Amino acid sequence: MRTNLNLTVLPGDGIGVEVTREAVRVLRAVADIQGYEFRFRTELVGGAAIRETGFPLPQQTLDACLGSDAVLLGAVGGPEFDSLPPDRKPESGLLALRRELGAFANLRPAASHRAIEDCSPLRPEVVRGADILVVRELLGGLYFGEPRGFAADGNFGFNTMCYSVPEIERIARIAFEQARTRRRKVTSVDKANVLETSQLWRKVVTRVAHDFSDVTLEHMYVDACAMHLVSNPTRFDVILTENLFGDILSDESAVISGSLGMLASASIGGRVGLFEPVHGSAPDIAGRGIANPLGAISTAALLLRYAGGMGQEARDIDSAIGEVLDRGYRTADLIRDPRSQPVSTEEMGAAVADALAGFCDRRHAYHAV
Ligand code: NAD
Repeated sequence: MRTNLNLTVLPGDGIGVEVTREAVRVLRAVADIQGYEFRFRTELVGGAAIRETGFPLPQQTLDACLGSDAVLLGAVGGPEFDSLPPDRKPESGLLALRRELGAFANLRPAASHRAIEDCSPLRPEVVRGADILVVRELLGGLYFGEPRGFAADGNFGFNTMCYSVPEIERIARIAFEQARTRRRKVTSVDKANVLETSQLWRKVVTRVAHDFSDVTLEHMYVDACAMHLVSNPTRFDVILTENLFGDILSDESAVISGSLGMLASASIGGRVGLFEPVHGSAPDIAGRGIANPLGAISTAALLLRYAGGMGQEARDIDSAIGEVLDRGYRTADLIRDPRSQPVSTEEMGAAVADALAGFCDRRHAYHAV
């Protein structure tokens, strides 16, 4: 375990800036409580970088990321960039960053919280106890496949989906290893009844499973998985899938936790880990101080776990989040009763940092007696 971390912070656009501020607040609280040294260097990415430099991923940003222990990112994108060609949009900076960091394994946990079960559009008895980890392949599939583009007349667009055996093998191993730390079940999701890439996926995942005889493997088509996620989410433990399916299914799994603003992600397996909440820049609520920062704060917990080997500190952050939810703190996205008063992004972040300090004090006092 490390006690010092050099972190590059990329707030990005829209609510990315607002929620990242609160994630950094909580990381500073961890460093203060534990006496660790976390150094933060903030750089531009996405639309903010395009405005300043003309590029969504400036070289200075990339160099800072590659030279750090981990990258904490908010979100990129916004309507003012919608008319740019795909390779110049803010999102292209994020895709390039993922590729440059080599972070091929995207881990996206989604769990129900008892205190906010009523936020889910699903019935409480359906979501209660649901605890899923989506392991999404991040550097292959349709998002990166070549050739891609438009025909000269602009009336024809095309993308390529391709996967190699090593690409599937390495992500499958991560999924099985993660399952060993959980309930030992992997659901591999594909479209093997239609796609050749999926048929290869299924064959390779089945082979990798032989090295993990203590983990149960099942295969499922993506359309069936989308249905089961909302009708019976507790049947899943680890969902292993390719890039596009994982993007969609992990957003769908937001229904379990009640809001997209609750979901965190870690992209690991490369030179430097990239940690970002699942949501985007949410232009519809940006600048109003009402975004839910809990996804970004949970992301900070993943950063400590995977980049710092700080499992206890990560669990402390998760417990602090649970505590503020139990105490009734709700940002606007978590409120169902219109008479309830929401807290702001900043108030939620401060509440988690305070709960964390109180929580750690109590544990130290307990160990001291
Ligand atoms: P979005 O995730 O930004 O927002 C979807 C809906 O969820 C909106 O109604 C928004 O208000 C709400 N929401 C999202 N996060 C929230 C939070 N923390 N608290 C409260 N409510 C929250 O997705 P979108 O609207 O489809 O995309 C907006 C922009 O973000 C686009 O430019 C898109 O390309 C970009 N985007 C970026 C990323 C990323 O940076 N990783 C991911 C998805 C979308």
